[in-house]
Amino acid sequence: MHCPGIEPGSKPYSYLWEGFILTDKLTMHAFYLLVTFLYLHLLVLFMKSKNKFYVTTPIYYPNDVPHLGHAYTSIAADVLARWNKVQNKDVFFLTGTDDHGKKIESTALAKGKKPKEFVDALIPEFKSAWKKLNIEYDRFIRTTDKDHEKVVQEILQKCYDNGDIYLGVYEGLYCTACEAYYTEREVLEGKCPIHHKALEYLKEESYFFKLSKYKKFLLDLYKKNSEFISPKNRRQEIINRVEEGLKDFSVSRTSFDWGIKLPFDKKHIAYVWFDALINYYTATREKGKEKFWPADVHIIGKDIIWFHTVYWPAMLKSAGIEMPKKVFAHGWWTVHNEKMGKSAGNAIKIDKLIGIAGADSARYFLLRSTPFGDDGNFSEEDLVARHNDELANKLGNLVSRVAALIEKYGIEKTENKLLKN
Ligand SMILES: [Zn+2]
Repeated sequence: MHCPGIEPGSKPYSYLWEGFILTDKLTMHAFYLLVTFLYLHLLVLFMKSKNKFYVTTPIYYPNDVPHLGHAYTSIAADVLARWNKVQNKDVFFLTGTDDHGKKIESTALAKGKKPKEFVDALIPEFKSAWKKLNIEYDRFIRTTDKDHEKVVQEILQKCYDNGDIYLGVYEGLYCTACEAYYTEREVLEGKCPIHHKALEYLKEESYFFKLSKYKKFLLDLYKKNSEFISPKNRRQEIINRVEEGLKDFSVSRTSFDWGIKLPFDKKHIAYVWFDALINYYTATREKGKEKFWPADVHIIGKDIIWFHTVYWPAMLKSAGIEMPKKVFAHGWWTVHNEKMGKSAGNAIKIDKLIGIAGADSARYFLLRSTPFGDDGNFSEEDLVARHNDELANKLGNLVSRVAALIEKYGIEKTENKLLKN
């Protein structure tokens, strides 16, 4: 037998022809292999991006003592992170502290300490609170971290080069505690609407970000991604305010030192929002973490929804960075129906919270008692009632019945079945 297609004694050109086809077939095989390989590679990349989940909490002010309010945000983020891990997703959970600002600087100086030294001493309090509450974050970022400083400067420079940052003069009513100026409309009888303290009239040279340029972009974003502002009942408020028109906002200060220097004018330091919000992006610039941007959800309290759904996307757009998928603002907690706060002296600290019935019951109570997004009311009696009724009696009873059945009939391991969406 001889090979089909090659006739003995046929003319030399047909050998050549056969040889050519053979080579061509090899080329085709190689080509198909390459295409298949590229396709699989893209598929893997796609699945990876589908299979990742990035959740953040706000960065907290380290000179607050961590209390119920902080715990609520962090527990919610932790539960989301765990739920996504159960679904076999690659999860990244970011939390941290906002180390800079006038308030930190003045408190440190009053205590005769350097700001960095002062802040360093406050961080363990937060880390230990999260440990006690079983919060498993992947990175604890601080705005004093070197990589953060670098990313903030890069983004400021990009926005500046795009013509979105310009020099001006800022004047207005300022609350040191909020580190924010208030407009006449927001002021309550000449006082800060949050701290109820008298406001200072300040005037200083400052760089501004051209937020006014982004009105149409933002309204389009809210339309295109209807879940960007969550929950839904807060969405319309933001849209209405943006439609009224946007004012450029101040991005730098010269009146204090404790912050990140502007790369294009070293006299100025970056003021709150450029320094703070960018932390979410910084954490994904680390090698191996790049795939986590854009964030799947920023969990925040409702007091900072404006900055996260208006300032933040406009800043990102200016710097040419992809938008996060969602900002979810939860409500506030009252304690025995009174507003919780440092000044009210009724803030529930972490040790007290977990001292009632343990960390798991505290976590359960906070997420169970109020729809996420609404305001909640805390009372020890309610926590104890849920612990006894729902955890000890109902869940405990279920476990004990199952255990009794196991004792009676024995137990066998079943095949591991993956959870499906
Ligand atoms: Zn204030």
